Amino acid sequence: MLPAVGAGIVIFVSLAQGWSDPPTAAAPDPQITAAIHQVSAQQIQADIEKLVGFGTRLTLSAQDPQSMAAGHGIGAAREWIKGQFESYSRDCSGCLEVKTDSFLQAPADRIPNPTQITNVYAVLKGSDPQSAKRMVLVTGHYDSRNSDTFDVTGAAPGANDDGSGTAVSLECARVLSKLKFPATIIFLTVAGEEQGLNGSKHFAEMARQQGWDIEAVLNNDIVGGDRNSGQKTDVVRVFSEGVPVAATDADVRRIRSLGGENDSSSRELARYIAEVGKTYLAGVSPMLIFRLDRYLRGGDHYSFNQQGYAAVRFTEYREDFNHQHQNVRTEGGVEYGDLPRFVNFDYVANVARLNAATLASLASAPAPPANVRLLTKELQNDSTLRWDSSPDGRAASYEVLWRSTSSPDWEQIKSTGNANQITLPESKDNVIFAVRAVDKEGHHSLPVVPIPAR
Ligand SMILES: [Zn+2]
Repeated sequence: MLPAVGAGIVIFVSLAQGWSDPPTAAAPDPQITAAIHQVSAQQIQADIEKLVGFGTRLTLSAQDPQSMAAGHGIGAAREWIKGQFESYSRDCSGCLEVKTDSFLQAPADRIPNPTQITNVYAVLKGSDPQSAKRMVLVTGHYDSRNSDTFDVTGAAPGANDDGSGTAVSLECARVLSKLKFPATIIFLTVAGEEQGLNGSKHFAEMARQQGWDIEAVLNNDIVGGDRNSGQKTDVVRVFSEGVPVAATDADVRRIRSLGGENDSSSRELARYIAEVGKTYLAGVSPMLIFRLDRYLRGGDHYSFNQQGYAAVRFTEYREDFNHQHQNVRTEGGVEYGDLPRFVNFDYVANVARLNAATLASLASAPAPPANVRLLTKELQNDSTLRWDSSPDGRAASYEVLWRSTSSPDWEQIKSTGNANQITLPESKDNVIFAVRAVDKEGHHSLPVVPIPAR
């Protein structure tokens, strides 16, 4: 335990046995543990079956008043999702602000005619005035498709793709809206994914233009745990980009010269999720995939990456491509189509628990430290890190993390108390450092990798 010292005080750590520790799983926050126990596989099953009941949720499908009244097409699905968020808000005395982001999409590759696209979301505003502008977000796409991406009337059940991800956003809203967090949580469902990520692109651009401080985006797409023989029900893949698509030329030069290709903000988020998975045993473990997405596939997290936000994708371990983007039929004894009976609702519930624990941990944590620097004025075998205080004033202490350059995850940790600088007897040439903020209850922020500074 380090003595309490003022900001700007320098800590020198001597090179002695046991001067740092391997990171261990943090103690769970009882409030978060209780919340994830509220996640219900039955509720998720009901949500997915309801979504399938709209027949098709193709972005180009009906949204006229008659079809909506008849409960058919994407318009009816959208109104139902909005109603679910509103009912959760009534249960918490109006704690959720339910909103839509609606726009007319001009014709594009898979959009033959101008089409109204509507994203539906609920905002659980942060309770701390200094932290409320910080946001974490969970999303899934509520649109679906079958074999023909222009078939506006044929059945497109989309139970797994992406009824499952939509259900995760809804269920996170239901259980987390009963609690208060210092930072803001947004529960989003988007349309247009299957036509070209149109909904998420519009939303992420709006967020960037309005200067939203989104620290993390969790995109759940195909988290149904399809009941195929190769499925692993105890893991969920978490995809994260390496070199950020939004990196500037100067960023890319620095990444290239310092070996920073494994430390995008999205990858730090993925590592954070891995740690949450150890603290809160959600029933499913994150399996980090250091790759933007699967071969030949894309998803809504990319729209957020393009705007410079940290965003990852959750997807089941083994997909069955006969159960995605297929007309419902049986051919040669093989069943095709994205039907609820192939979905493992207990698995979706576990993925929702992991998401809810991640959102709650981040929304409880202080803001990450600002302006984190690694001093490189002279050639030295020690390493000095310096940073500005966590801007929302909620940090009680800071921790430096590091790992060897060839290791996938953090290997060592050292608290600096409330000091904003530390010198470690570890060569910066051999390791990758990061700094995170910790509040008095032990919630920790996303880690920030330092920029070299002279
Ligand atoms: Zn999808």
